[in-house]
Amino acid sequence: MFPSKFEYYAPASVKEAVALLSKNKDAKILAGGHSLLPAMKIRLANPAVLVDIGKIANLSGVRVGGDGLTIGALTTHAMIAASKDVAAQCAALAEAAAMIGDLQVRNRGTIGGSLSHADPAADYPAVMLALSAEMKAVGPKGERTIKADDFFQSLLTMALGPEEVLTEVRIAALPPHSGCAYVKFPNPASHYAMVGVCAMVTLDNKGAVTQARVGITGAGDHATRATATEAALQVKKLDDAAIAMAAEKAADGLDLLSDIHASAEYRAHLVQVYAGRAIRAAAARAK
Ligand SMILES: Cc1cc2nc3c(=O)[nH]c(=O)nc-3n(C[C@H](O)[C@H](O)[C@H](O)COP(=O)(O)OP(=O)(O)OC[C@H]3O[C@@H](n4cnc5c(N)ncnc54)[C@H](O)[C@@H]3O)c2cc1C
Repeated sequence: MFPSKFEYYAPASVKEAVALLSKNKDAKILAGGHSLLPAMKIRLANPAVLVDIGKIANLSGVRVGGDGLTIGALTTHAMIAASKDVAAQCAALAEAAAMIGDLQVRNRGTIGGSLSHADPAADYPAVMLALSAEMKAVGPKGERTIKADDFFQSLLTMALGPEEVLTEVRIAALPPHSGCAYVKFPNPASHYAMVGVCAMVTLDNKGAVTQARVGITGAGDHATRATATEAALQVKKLDDAAIAMAAEKAADGLDLLSDIHASAEYRAHLVQVYAGRAIRAAAARAK
């Protein structure tokens, strides 16, 4: 299968990329190409212009700053999975990256491409929500920061405008006595998440929960937080019974998908089981 004809540009800067996107209304950014090119080959996407951001310097890599991690949009899944800084500060992100697709996908696919594509079964969105990540975007009007809670909107739809480039993701360092974990039930063929859950908990000196965030992906048409579970986790002692009760609520309020891969009922069950696993792993790390 061959894509339709398109013009190809490889700008050397974000500014140049934004100018190309502004000038060409039917343009699309090309990053790792592992979501866009398959869509073009089956003519689900037919951009007249491709703006390949792969040659722009400084958009790739993990930087450690005073208050956390900054990850360039072109950083590949493999780089994130292998980063000692990511493993030390955001174990859940390292786990999610390592579980994406296969080695070939991880070597080409980028975090910026994955977040911008907003696939309902992608792994990173659950992690971004649980870790309160912020996305930096640059467009014709300059730079802006978008909170993860405002980023994922609906099926394949997120907060970026057509002329904006996602340049980096920022994740603040977790407070002391915090832990996070990502677990998923993968589709056996593609490895996309049938259901993926990321949990983050912070405990005080006596073991009471001071903060809990749970992100769910794969279950609905876009990633969301399990707010009923988060509320139920506000307990003085985070033991197995408290975790089980909170996990039971993980599907509450979710608009669950039903498709050839899994019924809504089965997804609800998976969400509860995997929420329990993610919270238990996060709690163990926090302790
Ligand atoms: C066989 C296979 C298995 C996979 N399995 C998984 C999996 O298990 N879990 C998972 O999460 N994903 C999976 N993926 C998807 C993979 O992670 C892709 O790499 C990712 O979704 C897209 O990243 P990319 O860099 O390839 O982006 P591209 O395909 O180049 O672009 C994707 C979209 O994002 C836009 N875009 C890209 N970069 C930017 C940017 N910086 N700013 C604004 N817009 C941008 C593009 O215009 C396009 O619309 C799989 C893919 C394949 C082919």
